[in-house]
Amino acid sequence: MGGEAGDDPNFEKDLEELRETFNSGKTRDASWRRSQLKAMQLLLKETEDEIFHALKQDLGKPRCEAYRDEIGTVTKSVQYALGNLKYWMSAKKVNLPLIAFPATAELIPEPLGLVYIISSWNFPFGLSLEPIIGAIAAGNVVVLKPSELAPTCSAVLASVIDKYLDNKAIKVFQGGVSVGQQLLQHKWDKIFFTGSAQVGRLVMAAAANHLTPVTLELGGKCPAVVDSISGSWDRESTFKRILGGKFASCAGQVCIGVDYILVEKRYLSTLVSRLQIWIRKMFGDNPKECLARIINKHHFIRLKNLLSDPLVKASIRHGGSLDEANLFIEPTILVDPPLHSAIMTEEIFGPLLPIITLDKIEDSVKFINSRPKPLTIYAFTNNEKLKKMLIAGTSSGGITFNDTLVQHAADTIPFGGVGGSGFGRYHGKFSFDTFSHEKAILRRGFLTDFWFRFPPWDDKKLQLFRDAYRYDYIGIALTFLGLKK
Ligand code: NAD
Repeated sequence: MGGEAGDDPNFEKDLEELRETFNSGKTRDASWRRSQLKAMQLLLKETEDEIFHALKQDLGKPRCEAYRDEIGTVTKSVQYALGNLKYWMSAKKVNLPLIAFPATAELIPEPLGLVYIISSWNFPFGLSLEPIIGAIAAGNVVVLKPSELAPTCSAVLASVIDKYLDNKAIKVFQGGVSVGQQLLQHKWDKIFFTGSAQVGRLVMAAAANHLTPVTLELGGKCPAVVDSISGSWDRESTFKRILGGKFASCAGQVCIGVDYILVEKRYLSTLVSRLQIWIRKMFGDNPKECLARIINKHHFIRLKNLLSDPLVKASIRHGGSLDEANLFIEPTILVDPPLHSAIMTEEIFGPLLPIITLDKIEDSVKFINSRPKPLTIYAFTNNEKLKKMLIAGTSSGGITFNDTLVQHAADTIPFGGVGGSGFGRYHGKFSFDTFSHEKAILRRGFLTDFWFRFPPWDDKKLQLFRDAYRYDYIGIALTFLGLKK
């Protein structure tokens, strides 16, 4: 296992060893990839309690949340990768243009080599192990640098990965900014980064020096458009799902959490009163029992400062109490805080939920488009016209209608941003593709040779090129026979 890279004299040696492992060809074998995925399954099963404990220690995550969002989703993803590995690794036949006739072609996925995965603290296991699944399924060797802000989780990741996975091919380097910076100086074959846009820029700049491809999984402000839904079942589901997607996952410290709500003015009082009722039902009198806490004092103060503007403070409609000693913030709802205030211009990443009122719900398209492209847009509506408007009229990593967060558990749809919310994508086959290069293989024999492909040039050859690229078989025949001018 690599340790603190900065202090570890074996750091360079570790990277060398990883390169040697890759060059030996061992990680390309389907049997190695399968064995590592199976080892990951075992890791998740046998160290579940250690993982629960670490997540409780660093983030106060309740066990249900920890299982739903990390252990469970990753277990599902490994299972999916094992079930599909053979197909993912197989060569895919493709068609060729007439000009290449007779020939065949295929795309063969090959591993990129040494990949560097940098993860964030809010889902320390999920955001580390999910990309590792893709990287090993694709046959790479891996360095993981988990976030120093979740130190217990980081230490557990280092020890269990060393114990269960092939430690000549997968290593964890623990540490903070200086370790991250040192590692970025090296030449990698791929960097997969999850974190802030600010650090994402540094990652990209460092990668540019070596022309290393990067995937940036960033954040931003994900809006939830709430239409005035008729039907009490649909309405109540909306309220529960919004609260689930805001407070009941890492206390809102989630890149795809609901950042703010957009709603028509006339629907505001119903929305606020029902959200308050559901907050009491879900989180009871002692919300500390079933909500995660803020990761550290720095982030607690950051969130506290978001509320310090007097106009923002005046907009609080529910909650607002902060317990600094326990790093706990009560689920808090605000109505129409100033749009230029930090709470509406910065990613909130915590249990504060602003509601912005609009004259017409259709204005949400313009509102969303006036801001950086979000990772996800949520919309609660049965109005097909509004759904179409949002799909065609906005740009985001994805749109989820009538629910929150579930898209993250899907292996069949890509997870990733666009514009300010990042680029590149993963989950399921998309992870495999992210860590692979699709090598283009074209095979021809020597049987036929089209003389018109070679000089000396004349008008007849030019016409044959025109016909061939148009797949105009009759034209080719006529030109060939000199019957076409
Ligand atoms: P961060 O950018 O501060 O840190 C991310 C990682 O980069 C950590 O491992 C950290 O040690 C490392 N790092 C920090 N500074 C570095 C430097 N100068 N050089 C090299 N490495 C450095 O982000 P964070 O606080 O961990 O996460 C919060 C952000 O991440 C939010 O914006 C959130 O939306 C986003 N996020 C996105 C996703 C996603 O899947 N899209 C998931 C979780 C978090």
